[in-house]
Amino acid sequence: MPTVYLSLGSNLGNREGHLRRAIAALPPSGVQVQQVSSIYETEPVDYLDQPWFLNCVLEAETDLEPPALLQALRLIESQLRSQKEFAKGPRKIDLDILLYGNETIATPELQVPHPRMLQRRFVLTPLAELAPELKHPAWEAPAAVLLERLTDPSQVRHL
Ligand code: ADP
Ligand code: MG
Repeated sequence: MPTVYLSLGSNLGNREGHLRRAIAALPPSGVQVQQVSSIYETEPVDYLDQPWFLNCVLEAETDLEPPALLQALRLIESQLRSQKEFAKGPRKIDLDILLYGNETIATPELQVPHPRMLQRRFVLTPLAELAPELKHPAWEAPAAVLLERLTDPSQVRHL
């Protein structure tokens, strides 16, 4: 079974509760969670006028093919959501696929490795905590080294 890395974020309501509920919803959806990083409180990027996020990254194994995995994550997001949200804006829960084994996927629906992950401190900090040596074939260096080189000035605090 391929090892996948997922990124989770929440910046509305009971943020930690939303992360926990999303993590608990994964195994019944066919995603076996192996390891979860610490939770970090992080400054918004892109769309700045919104509350700080809680973020974490997890490692899992799954038999789901990438499109089915994305669909499973969307279903969990919609189960946890009620109010109207917009891309890059505040949300109760956001679930992204960072890596799917060593695969590279470039479809309109799904890009893996996640195209912005190497520029984001809120992703690389928890990823390097879980898997410092992890290196996708397209990367120049492992996760911990990419984090050291990162210039993203946004704040990421261990909760
Ligand atoms: P964002 O996560 O950038 O804030 P959304 O959560 O609104 O934005 O998702 C926007 C779209 O990103 C989704 O509809 C999905 O099809 C697409 N997408 C592309 N690649 C990925 C990926 N690796 N993981 C999750 N969603 C992805
Ligand atoms: Mg998303």
